[in-house]
Amino acid sequence: MQEIILIKCGELALKGLNRSTFEQMLMKNIRKKLSSIGAVKVKSAQSTIYVTPQYDDFDMDEASDRISKIFGIAAFTRACVCKKDMQDILQCINEYSKDDLLNASTFKVNAKRSDKSFEYKSPDICAMAGESILNNFPHLTVDVHNPDTIVTVEIRDFGAYIHSSQIQGAGGMPVGSSGRAMLLISGGIDSPVAGYMMAKRGIDLTAVHFASPPYTSERSEMKVHDLLKQVSQYAGSIALFTVPFTKIQEAIRDNCQEEYSTLIMRRLMMKIATKLARRQRCDALITGESLGQVASQTMLALGCTDDAAELPVFRPCIGMDKDEIIAISRKIDTFDISIQPFDDCCTVFTPRHPRTRPKLEDVIKIESAVDWQPMIVDAIENTNKIVIE
Ligand code: ATP
Ligand code: MG
Repeated sequence: MQEIILIKCGELALKGLNRSTFEQMLMKNIRKKLSSIGAVKVKSAQSTIYVTPQYDDFDMDEASDRISKIFGIAAFTRACVCKKDMQDILQCINEYSKDDLLNASTFKVNAKRSDKSFEYKSPDICAMAGESILNNFPHLTVDVHNPDTIVTVEIRDFGAYIHSSQIQGAGGMPVGSSGRAMLLISGGIDSPVAGYMMAKRGIDLTAVHFASPPYTSERSEMKVHDLLKQVSQYAGSIALFTVPFTKIQEAIRDNCQEEYSTLIMRRLMMKIATKLARRQRCDALITGESLGQVASQTMLALGCTDDAAELPVFRPCIGMDKDEIIAISRKIDTFDISIQPFDDCCTVFTPRHPRTRPKLEDVIKIESAVDWQPMIVDAIENTNKIVIE
C-alpha cells in the first residue's frame, strides 16, 4: 500500500494570475522542509499538491508534522493510492481505513470523481464502498449527517485515493511570497510571536539582535538562537545578525537625560536595523511592540521610534493583550524559552521615570549630544552573522 500526502492550498486560490507563482513557492518550501527526511516528489495537479515518498520507510508522521507548520496550506490529508479498479478500491478501504473504522460507531462514505471516464458514478461508489464496509465492520452503522468518521474516495486522473481524516494546515501565505523583512528579536515573549505572525503573511524573515556584553550574557544570545530555531520551523531558515551594542548603550547612559534613554536606545536600534535591512534587501522592519505595554510603547513614544526608522515598521502585536500574545507563544513553543531569566539590553540601564508622552523635538535635541555615526558604523562592522535552521 503506497501512502502519499494531498495538500490543499490556502489563500492561494484567491490570487488569480499570481496563483502559479505562489504555488511554485509553496512547493519549493515543501521540498526544502521535507528534504532531510528523504527523497520525495512534490507536484501539483488539479488544484492539489501531491507529496509522494520515493521509498518505503519514509517517515510519514514526521512529514505530516512538518507540513502542518508550512504557511500557505489550508488543509492536508494522508491518503492511500490504489488502482482505478473498484475491487482494489474496496480492498484498500478495508486495510487503510481499518483503525479509523474500528474506533468509530458511525461512518459515511464520500466519493469525488474528477475523472469522469471512471466506470462508476459517485453515488454508485458510495453505495458499493458503504456495503463493503458494513460487511467487514458489522459494528458500524451509516450516519450521513454526523458520522464519527468519513471515508473519502477520490478518483483522479492519475489514480484512486482513499483519504484518512483531513488535517488543518497552518494557513497564511507561502513564506517568501510577500518579500523579506527584518525582525528585531529580543529574548522576550513578544518579538518571536511577531516574527511568526509576519512569516504567516508570507514574509521571509531575517533577524537582528542587539547584545550588550558584559551587561547581557552569552546565555541571552543563546536564548535568541533557541527562539529563532522554533520560529524557523514555520518561517524556514533565518539569518541572524547580532550587533554589539554596549558602547552605544554606555554613551546613552553617560550623555543623555535618563528619562529619554530607552527611547533614544530604541531609535538607535531602528537606525542600525534600517541600515542592515537595506543591505540584506529587506523592505520593512518587524517588532513585538504592543500599544501601552511599557513606557516606550505609548502612541507618542512609538511615533518617536518610527521617526528613526526609514522603512515601514510592522508591529503585528500592537492591538493584542499579553494573554493573547502568550497563547500564540505557547502554540509555537517559544514561551518556555522566552521566560528563561536572562537580561536583554532593554533591561539594563532602565530609567526610573521614563517619558510616556515624549515630544519628538526634545528627543532629537537630547540625542544630538553625541555624534552617533561613528558608533553606528563600528557596530555594523562588528556585527556577527549566523544562519538558524
Ligand atoms: P519582547 O517581549 O519582544 O522582548 P517587550 O515587551 O519586552 O518585547 P521591549 O523590550 O520594549 O518590549 O522591546 C520592544 C521590541 O523591541 C521587541 O519586541 C523587539 O522587537 C525589539 N527589541 C527589544 N530588545 C531588543 C534587542 N535586544 N534586540 C533586538 N530587538 C529588540
Ligand atoms: Mg523585551
